[in-house]
Amino acid sequence: MTKTFKIAVFDGDGIGPEIMHPTVALLKAISAKSKSFDFAFNTLPAGAAHYAEHGESLPETSLEAARASDAILLSAMGLPSVRYPDGTEISPQIEIRKALHLYAGVRPVRLAPGQPTPLALSEGQPVDFVLIRESTEGLFHSQGTRDVRNDTEAYETLKITRDTSEKLFNFAFKLAQSRKRAGRGAGAVTCVDKANVFAAFAFFRKIFDEVAMKHPEIQTNHAYVDATALWMVEKPWVFDVMVTENMFGDILSDLGAGLMGGLGLAPSADIGDENAVFQPCHGSAPDIAGQGVANPFAMILSAAMMLDWLGEAFGLDEMMSDGIRLREAVEAAIDERQDVTPDLGGTASTSEAAAAIARRLL
Ligand code: ATP
Repeated sequence: MTKTFKIAVFDGDGIGPEIMHPTVALLKAISAKSKSFDFAFNTLPAGAAHYAEHGESLPETSLEAARASDAILLSAMGLPSVRYPDGTEISPQIEIRKALHLYAGVRPVRLAPGQPTPLALSEGQPVDFVLIRESTEGLFHSQGTRDVRNDTEAYETLKITRDTSEKLFNFAFKLAQSRKRAGRGAGAVTCVDKANVFAAFAFFRKIFDEVAMKHPEIQTNHAYVDATALWMVEKPWVFDVMVTENMFGDILSDLGAGLMGGLGLAPSADIGDENAVFQPCHGSAPDIAGQGVANPFAMILSAAMMLDWLGEAFGLDEMMSDGIRLREAVEAAIDERQDVTPDLGGTASTSEAAAAIARRLL
């Protein structure tokens, strides 16, 4: 029997629609060949351009349709030229994370053969780890409250809760288990914090240790965030799964994207108990929007993560292997430098790069 999945789609701003349309086309082509699943896509309005025109960045109807969907695909939202009255950028993706309580921001850092990287790696040092960024609290908790007093002092509040931290760490351990089963990791979780300076991080670490006790089959480590930044550059192959607070994860995930040769190849997922958003790590890249040169691979790799996640959640082996095939098709294109966009040294347009993935896959 065929299961139809409801997929909410946010085309977004800047290069968003340019990378989303070929990704949805790829997913349609994949599902057309499947006997076990199908997709019903529902494109929803939100973002900076929508705000400029209608005065709201994330209509309630869009949020509720996203909540009711099986998974959410999001390209990139926000434009430097469109801002709220307080000067901050439109970022419905952050509102969605909070509203749907998508606490686990999953940022894979993987270097496929031939993938450009600023690292000088030797044989036998494969870089394949996952950074999990808590995405609903931490230092982003007070975002939007704007506590600036008399133009002389400004405050932000860091929030760590037991409930979210326990969910986050359980997610990290489950991921380490499934990576170990798939032969992709040693089965280790590193808690990244600053427990030597801040009580909030000592609390974060204490909860990590409590959750770790329930997973004796997984190795655990602690690392300070500053040392982690150093080791991600010096010896990134030592990591399997790392888990951290929102702001630290924000910064380290861009470092991870840098290791992967840039933002154009870095996918992500934001996962909660009921919902999940799949989107590239990069922003709306207004500097190249409309030129047809945006790299669609981070968006396509995010769609592959969606296939993994839905396939695992619903026990659909065919969908999980389609996720792997989609990722491998992108990795082969990168390795062969065939039909890749200018940021990867090629001359292909966005649609040509995506069409070449479809040819490899179908
Ligand atoms: P945000 O703060 O919204 O995450 P950002 O400041 O990180 O955005 P991006 O929009 O991600 O900025 O763009 C950073 C740089 O990377 C820009 O020069 C942009 O052109 C480039 N870039 C981002 N995404 C892509 C892509 N898919 N293909 C090619 N270049 C990209």
